[in-house]
Amino acid sequence: MDGEARERASPRAPLTLLPPTGFLLHPSAPLHDPGWGHPEHQGRLPAIATAVERALPVLHGKVEPVEARFATLEELTRVHPRGYLERIEAACRQADELGAQVEVGQETPVSGGSWDAIRGSSGAAIVAVEGVIEGTLRNAFVAARPPGHHASAGQAMGFCPVNHVALAARHLQSTGAAERIAIVDWDVHHGNGTQDIFLLDPTVFFLSLHQFPFYPGTGSAEERGVAEGLGTTLNVPLPARTTGKAYRQAFTDAITQAEGAFAPDLILISAGFDAMAGDPIGGMLLEPGDFFELARTVMGWAERACSGRVVALLEGGYHPARTGQAVAATLAALAGLEGPPEV
Ligand SMILES: [Zn+2]
Repeated sequence: MDGEARERASPRAPLTLLPPTGFLLHPSAPLHDPGWGHPEHQGRLPAIATAVERALPVLHGKVEPVEARFATLEELTRVHPRGYLERIEAACRQADELGAQVEVGQETPVSGGSWDAIRGSSGAAIVAVEGVIEGTLRNAFVAARPPGHHASAGQAMGFCPVNHVALAARHLQSTGAAERIAIVDWDVHHGNGTQDIFLLDPTVFFLSLHQFPFYPGTGSAEERGVAEGLGTTLNVPLPARTTGKAYRQAFTDAITQAEGAFAPDLILISAGFDAMAGDPIGGMLLEPGDFFELARTVMGWAERACSGRVVALLEGGYHPARTGQAVAATLAALAGLEGPPEV
């Protein structure tokens, strides 16, 4: 009997030991450079990494870094047409040659490093959902850049060229790993791209809470899906200056409603942190600790519906230091800690 087998056979081995929460940040993700004057600038991921590092004393042993890989072109075409992806890749190459940003859609500049950042972040999302489905990870957080939830199948906009959360859902479905996916979008903006991709699809439930009226203009409560997809889109528009307390109440109510309508095999979170007070773009008043509670609420649904399977992906969040604190709070919730860490 080797050491590992002895370990498994030992009556002292803890039987309820949970696998770790995965933390994924593809090394290419920070290379996407929309320019330092742009809100989605290259300082965001280092600020997140610093906050997570500061929280290590409490996260240690519960959160593990997981190596990501590039998504293949075939994987990316599960959501986006090949011609669209080729245009994005060519724009990144052109930006590299020019040494300047190139726009691929409304407010969506790419740089020479963006193509690797995009396929690295989509790949990280794929590795994360695979790990959670296989049970090597309890759940996971993906620090993705550029963000994705405004990108529809054929249109980049709002800083988002490729929709990572949609790709993660389609990856699970096309590999047969899962059939029914719920996407919970707590970014301050409506996830119009994700909604558009799954509007007709009853196998993917899309729930978005967002400031309204606000960019991108969609996301009224009347948008509930179309044809077969009617009832698997749920929009909760909220006014500017919504407090953490009011947001958490609306969030709990929305999750209860979603849970009554849909039984997922896995829940994805479009985890933007631009609903935080002090965010230079958003207009809501959440604190980092509120995201601990939001993550716990999603985990409650996941525990009841799908053995706790949750994967969160970074979307917006434009106050780097506070975004870092909120990511650490989200990770602490995913890791099962009692409260958010002091960072
Ligand atoms: Zn946003």
